[in-house]
Amino acid sequence: MTDVDVRRVTVLGAGNMGHGIAEVAAVAGYDVVMRDVEEELVSEGYESIEWSLEKLAEKGRLDESVADVLARVDTAVELESAVADADLVIEAAPERMDLKKEIFAELDEHAPENAVLASNTSSLSIMEIASATSRPESVVGMHFFNPPVKMALVEVIYGAETTEETAEAAYGFVESLDKTPIYVRKDVSGFVVNTVLGPYIAEPAWMVSEGEATVREADAAMVHRRGYPMGPFELSDLTGIDVTHHVREEAGRPIPPVMAEKVENGDLGRKTGRGHYDYESGAGADYTPDDVGEFDTLRVEARMANEAARLIGDGVATPEEVDTGVRLGLGFPEGICRRADDIGLDAILKKLETLSEETGEERFAPDDHLVELVESGKTGRAAGAGFYDYDSGGEGPGDYRFLNYDLSEEGLLEIELDRPERMNALSTDLLEEIDDLLSSVDVDSVRCVTFEGAGDRAFSAGADIEGFADRSPTDAMDVTPAFETVEEFPRPTLAKIEGYCLGGGLELALACDLRVATEGSEFGAPEINLGLIPGGGGTQKLLRMLGETRAKELVFRGNRIGADRAEEWGLVNRAVPSAESDDVVGEFVDDLLNGPPLALEVAKKVMNEGADASLDAALAMESQGFGLLFSTDDLREGTAAFREKRDPEFTGE
Ligand code: NAD
Repeated sequence: MTDVDVRRVTVLGAGNMGHGIAEVAAVAGYDVVMRDVEEELVSEGYESIEWSLEKLAEKGRLDESVADVLARVDTAVELESAVADADLVIEAAPERMDLKKEIFAELDEHAPENAVLASNTSSLSIMEIASATSRPESVVGMHFFNPPVKMALVEVIYGAETTEETAEAAYGFVESLDKTPIYVRKDVSGFVVNTVLGPYIAEPAWMVSEGEATVREADAAMVHRRGYPMGPFELSDLTGIDVTHHVREEAGRPIPPVMAEKVENGDLGRKTGRGHYDYESGAGADYTPDDVGEFDTLRVEARMANEAARLIGDGVATPEEVDTGVRLGLGFPEGICRRADDIGLDAILKKLETLSEETGEERFAPDDHLVELVESGKTGRAAGAGFYDYDSGGEGPGDYRFLNYDLSEEGLLEIELDRPERMNALSTDLLEEIDDLLSSVDVDSVRCVTFEGAGDRAFSAGADIEGFADRSPTDAMDVTPAFETVEEFPRPTLAKIEGYCLGGGLELALACDLRVATEGSEFGAPEINLGLIPGGGGTQKLLRMLGETRAKELVFRGNRIGADRAEEWGLVNRAVPSAESDDVVGEFVDDLLNGPPLALEVAKKVMNEGADASLDAALAMESQGFGLLFSTDDLREGTAAFREKRDPEFTGE
């Protein structure tokens, strides 16, 4: 195989995954052929694409018309012609090895010599699938998550003979879809994400089987104490208990008795109305923070960290890749490697050793890589190194875990909230990082600050309510200073909003001076629905900005409003189509970067402080500021440039 320039993509299967993959490829501009075995199935898949594209268009997330995207999707029933011109084929047929092999043998016969042949399998061996062809070097795993339109992660899996070129072509293709690929460098069962997920589901199941915990305790503790998006049993009900059961059976792993029992009784989860919870006559997954009890969360996290160590030690993935995988693929908070570094790898190792001794169970046997790390003193964040290196400033994560930032030479400080897996929810740590960054940056080198959220779903969907239930009122009243730091930062700040801007996220946007939103964005203060009120300045900021009538509507009703109304109400400066957002923000930023820093600083200060003062006091502040600016070089430069009809070059002196 030579270098591949992917233009035409063929997707085999128009089911759940196939139609979604075809859709994202078409949205990204590729010509796509979607093939299934019957006309009816192809049409259903095509209709699903159309429906989904219309939803995207309604939310303002398509840069062109639905018809234009659909025009790039062809359908087919016959395989030979469907793949004849393909640069890349992605197989998304049912998860059966015999079927996959049959399909790849056919592909071998009919696909162009240069084509990359990918399988979307979630659990089968890429190597074995590739063995059905005479060109295993061109076969690669490309594991999308469900639903492909929403999920940002794709695992790119090397089979034993996959070449770098093939894997790189697949990786580049995923990037061109605006998704995040991670390499899985060896064809291990479960790849990266499901390998770490395994113990999250299975260990609580063992604990419940052994009478050491209840289903509700496990789910409540993992969600409300440890911040996972869904309890293990709740997740298992959603996926289908039979699915996990089948995968474990195929991989030759022992099956926890509660799992086996449910499958025997036909209680497979939501799809049958009953699983670990009762969805028909009961209230479904109805655990609450009060159910937390004494559940041993370390036992579960230690096993996940042990699996991560194995992947890293075996050269399957790096800590960064493991963490990216579980964050984007499963919505896990921060990533298991970072979390393990915080817990302490020594504590994790000790937990595994104790359990191993007590039970003699193989699954607790500590992995060699974990042992090596601990023995070499790399016991985690507190020690300066663990899975990551914290001291060298080299390989490990930057200084911040939940923020990315860049300060340009011109003085533009761009800050990205980086928790896309949690829709950039503001955790205490994230807020502390914002506070720390703005408090420690050299203000003189900054002329303007922008905030945005990673991914395209949310600026920030709110405060992270993890641990709320455990907090005492005095703790909770101790609101983080981050909002104030943003508000008082002496340079203009702008929130670049795309998607949800809710609760704490809205308060962060309100702490900024200016706001530009894409048309599909949604704004709201949903705190009231939780029995709370906005606690980061929201009630007072909204009151001052929107007036009592509108502010009370937002706060009392807890409903969302769209970007158009937000613009009409004066909550944002502009609501723009998403394709134009960068340009509009660019124009704002240009003015702020090139404006006179001192005058902007004084304007910000007198306007912020004046808003809360009497008119007399505010006017006094203004004239004081006005006077102050009279002695500056910037004023001289501004007036000279005006006279000379040129652009001023302000220095902030
Ligand atoms: P699905 O049953 O919804 O769709 C599979 C489609 O493939 C069906 O429409 C079927 O008619 C069609 N098909 C069968 N033989 C075919 C052939 N020879 N050529 C073309 N199409 C053929 O299944 P799905 O959920 O979309 O899963 C497809 C693959 O994606 C599986 O390998 C699965 O493991 C993997 N996967 C699924 C998920 C998920 O959550 N559903 C997530 C990641 C990966």
